[in-house]
Amino acid sequence: MAEETIFSKIIRKEIPADVLYQDELVTAFRDINPRAPVHILVVPNKLIPTTNDVDTDDELALGRMITVAKKLAADEGIAEDGYRLIMNCNQHGGQEVYHIHMHLVGGRALGPMVV
Ligand code: 5GP
Repeated sequence: MAEETIFSKIIRKEIPADVLYQDELVTAFRDINPRAPVHILVVPNKLIPTTNDVDTDDELALGRMITVAKKLAADEGIAEDGYRLIMNCNQHGGQEVYHIHMHLVGGRALGPMVV
């Protein structure tokens, strides 16, 4: 059984966060340490530690993460100029919180992807 992270508490509204969207599958909230004018995290409500743990049963939630990111990009007024969606996995991917999440970042030109 995977260990819960702070994101489970945010999803259950046990700790404060700037939640922008929630449904039965996903929750989206502003990153506490924004790296761009818009920096939102879209997470599945189900605890999945890393993208290595994703299962075919999770495909609906993962698809929903993208449609919600698309909606939020439009709501934030960054859809036309563009934005970046990022998922980090494990140590080499720079993952800090072991509950998968998609970063929606934008609001300025992000430049070429740095790896
Ligand atoms: P990772 O490096 O795992 O892809 O990204 C984790 C992200 O979660 C970081 O950008 C970090 O700022 C954000 N984060 C960590 N703890 C919290 C928290 O308690 N609340 C919010 N809103 N974001 C958090």
